[in-house]
Formats: sequence, C-alpha cells, structure tokens
Amino acid sequence: MKSNFDIKRLVRSNVLSLKPYSSARDEFKEGQANTVFLDANENPVGDGLNRYPDPQQRELKWAIASKLKISEKNIFLGNGSDEVLDLLFRTFCEPHKDQVLILPPTYGMYKVLARINAVTLQEVLLDTNFQPEVDNILALNTKGAKLLFLCSPNNPTGNLMDPELLERLLRGFNGLVVIDEAYIQYSEQQSWIHRLKEFPNLVVLQTFSKAYGLAGIRLGIGFASEGILQILNKIKPPYNINQLTIQRALEQLSETEIEHIRAQNEDQKQLLKRAFDDIPIIKKVYPSDANFILIQVDDAKKRYQELLELGIVVRDRSNEPLCDNCLRVTIGTTKENLRLLAALKKLKS
Ligand SMILES: *Cc1c(COP(=O)(O)O)cnc(C)c1O
Repeated sequence: MKSNFDIKRLVRSNVLSLKPYSSARDEFKEGQANTVFLDANENPVGDGLNRYPDPQQRELKWAIASKLKISEKNIFLGNGSDEVLDLLFRTFCEPHKDQVLILPPTYGMYKVLARINAVTLQEVLLDTNFQPEVDNILALNTKGAKLLFLCSPNNPTGNLMDPELLERLLRGFNGLVVIDEAYIQYSEQQSWIHRLKEFPNLVVLQTFSKAYGLAGIRLGIGFASEGILQILNKIKPPYNINQLTIQRALEQLSETEIEHIRAQNEDQKQLLKRAFDDIPIIKKVYPSDANFILIQVDDAKKRYQELLELGIVVRDRSNEPLCDNCLRVTIGTTKENLRLLAALKKLKS
C-alpha cells in the first residue's frame, strides 16, 4: 500500500474548485411509478428514448460490477476508452506546464491527446522484449510527470508486460499509473482491476471495442479509487453514455462468453503463426497475448501496398520505434485468415 497518497495534489486547481453542472436527472433521479417528469424539457411522447439517459449509468455499472466481481463504486464509463483518456488529461494535466510519460512503441492516442492538451510528452522506449525499463522511467520521474501510460497487452506489439515490473512502477511513480487493458480478455493474465486497493494511484482501462465485439457503440471503462472517480465525474459531459449504448452493452454482458472468444482467437492465432513460419517474406513473428500479431517482413511499405491491392488491409507500424518493417495483423475469422495467407503466399520475395 502506498501510504499518504493524496490525489488532490495531482488535480488541476480549476478542476478541484469546480462546481459541476447539475443536470435535471442528477437532481431528481428516481420517481414513484406515477411521477410526472416535467423537469428536463423532453418531448413527453416516445418509446423511452425521448428521455435523457441516467447520467451515472447505474444499471450498467451494476451489471459490469457483478460480471467482473468488483464494486460499482470503482467503475467509470466513457464514450470509448478514448473519452476516459481525454478526461484524465483534462483533469490532471495543466496545459503548457505538466508532463506525461509514455513508453513507445505503444498506442498512438496517448501522444495525440498530450499534443491536443499542450502537455509535454516524455518518452522512454521499451526494451527489445517490449518490456518497460523501470530504472530509466523512475529516474525521469523526478521531473514529476502526472500520468504514466502502460498498455498491457501492448498495442502494437501484442505482448503482456511483466507484472513485477508494473508493480515496481506502481510503487515508485509519484503520479497516476494508467494501465490500458483493451486486450486483457484475450490473455490468460489476471486484470489489474483486482488490485485497486493496493495501489491508490492506479487507473485501469478496459473497453467494449475488442473482445466484447462492440466497437460501434463506443463504450470504455475506467476503474479507479472512488476518490479519483469523484473528480472524473465532476468534469464528464452529463449524458456521455447514450441510452442505445447502455441497452446494447447490458444485452452483450449477459450473452458474451469471454472464454469462448478467447479460445477461438487462440485457435486462429496458432494457425496463423504456424503458417507465417513458412512464408519467406515474413522475417519474424512476435509473441502475442492479444487478437493481433506483429510481424516483421522484408519491406513493410511494399508488402502493405501489395496486400492492399489484393483487398487486404493490415496496419503498417514500420514508422514506430523498434518496429522496423513491422506490420500489425488483426486475427480475423477463419475465412478472412485464409484469404490473408493466400495473399501472403502470392507475394514474391
Ligand atoms: C483499441 C484500443 C482501445 C479502445 O479504445 P475505444 O475508444 O474504447 O474504442 C484503447 N486502448 C488501446 C491500446 C487500444 O488498442
């Protein structure tokens, strides 16, 4: 347990003193069965969507909490994890003054958000196994970065980060440590959400966009202490999660069997990896704990274009540090993967 961690020390002063907008539905939540709602200027006629959604999304939070076996008090919902990330920047980082730390190669949004918010970016490259260089990171931290972004399994590399290294970072870093678990359902690893009590500076991100198969509804989850979430709740847009998203997510939570999705992904991953070994233009296949595989080819730009002409879109990551000539390939359906393999075999070395 990190002793005397005070979240208020990290919050922007204007946010700390902010009195949030109080919506009609915040001030008056639950009516009796015969309550007449004349408080929000809604059209009185409709199928339910004429009403504003619950600003606190209580029903959905309860459903997520019971599925993941944690308290709903530690759950925050965003319009995609991207909204949660944006709110973290705007809550904690003073433009033109504060700094954040990222470990490339990693998810591109951290850098984009830092630039949008005029926040200085410090970068410490991952090592050649794509693991964090803990000593270098903690040495830089004397400059007082507010946020440290870790992505595990990491995008675009695909690997999990060693939990012992992450634990050292959680203990040694003075700001908030954000662990982005967008792909955690595909891995065998325990989520960090079960360790929030141990680490008051921990924020974990998950999403409905990957294993839950709902990138289209835009729903991300932030897990953190009640103290941190109280502050995020102060600055979030009042109705950031729409009613259709809430309904679809509730359906999916009761239907989705994550074990099944993980097993299917694993099958296809093994099949692809075996086939990649026999394709001459593929020089290296990186280990993956996610639903994509990073491969190194002989000439990434050329192979990307050739695949495109054969109707297959992959992601060229060759401009990222430590990713020379690397393509990131999402694991598709059996049929899609067979098309990928057929196309790769057509390419001449
Ligand atoms: C795909 C992905 C997300 C998901 O973002 P959403 O806004 O929830 O769709 C978050 N983090 C990483 C690292 C990702 O790869």
